[in-house]
Amino acid sequence: MSENSLSRHGADALKKFETTSNSSEFTKDNIWFDWGDKEEHVIRIVGDFRISRTHWIGESKFGNDVAILKSSAFKGENKLPMTVACGNWDADTETEDPDGNGCPICRLGKNADAMLKKYGKSLVEDQKENLKNIRRKCQAKSQYLFKIIDRDNPYVDDEKTRKGYKILRAPEKLLKAILALSDSMEGIAITSPDEGIDIKIKKTVSATTKTDVTYSALAVMAGPKVKQTPLTDEELAYRDLDLLKFVGKPVDTKRFEEEMEGGTILTVYANSDMNTDGEEEGGNAPF
Ligand SMILES: [Zn+2]
Repeated sequence: MSENSLSRHGADALKKFETTSNSSEFTKDNIWFDWGDKEEHVIRIVGDFRISRTHWIGESKFGNDVAILKSSAFKGENKLPMTVACGNWDADTETEDPDGNGCPICRLGKNADAMLKKYGKSLVEDQKENLKNIRRKCQAKSQYLFKIIDRDNPYVDDEKTRKGYKILRAPEKLLKAILALSDSMEGIAITSPDEGIDIKIKKTVSATTKTDVTYSALAVMAGPKVKQTPLTDEELAYRDLDLLKFVGKPVDTKRFEEEMEGGTILTVYANSDMNTDGEEEGGNAPF
């Protein structure tokens, strides 16, 4: 290969790489709504929401965290995400199968609960605390996904050249605030494409506890009247987002079991036939 052909090949290769990384197909859109530093935002919700049920399986530096997986599970090429969907929750039909086998995390939490009830009295304080921590860690959390237009920053790319819908992950308190607003707007479907309204959402972090957060949702007004904002042709042409595709994926049970911490976690997980019905309290715990 002559030097010339090498540099030509190199130039072509770099050019190719440049076009690939700049093509919209490979650009990662910022589709998740971000509160940023601001406590208040104006949004336009479009359509109905979806419920996502997730478990936080990652490590936490706060509170009485208990590691249920080895830390290596979150490292390397095949690492697990720290938030996973609950496998007992069907987001499409919005039904939960609490006794299902689809979720190893629910199984672990349920077993911890059953062991507390069965052996509670005979456990030493440390063991009791440990089981309570496992039970708490395994609880699934609901989030409500809304398709929105972010009025302050409607762009989905950093260069601010393309506008589009985003997804707001609302906690239950914000959902309640939005539902209360909806109930108060008699005769207006507040998320409908043609008669919906702009909404000012606000979150307030408690100055005393620093962790308690409250939310409010108010209609944006135009003088004395609520400002209805039918979607424009431009907004109607935004790339659609199917919220169902964003509710998250359940963890693979086999993978979860491979990465599980040994000791108590394994013992609790293996107690799959725990049944407190008719059992007397105070038996000997298997650890
Ligand atoms: Zn679950």
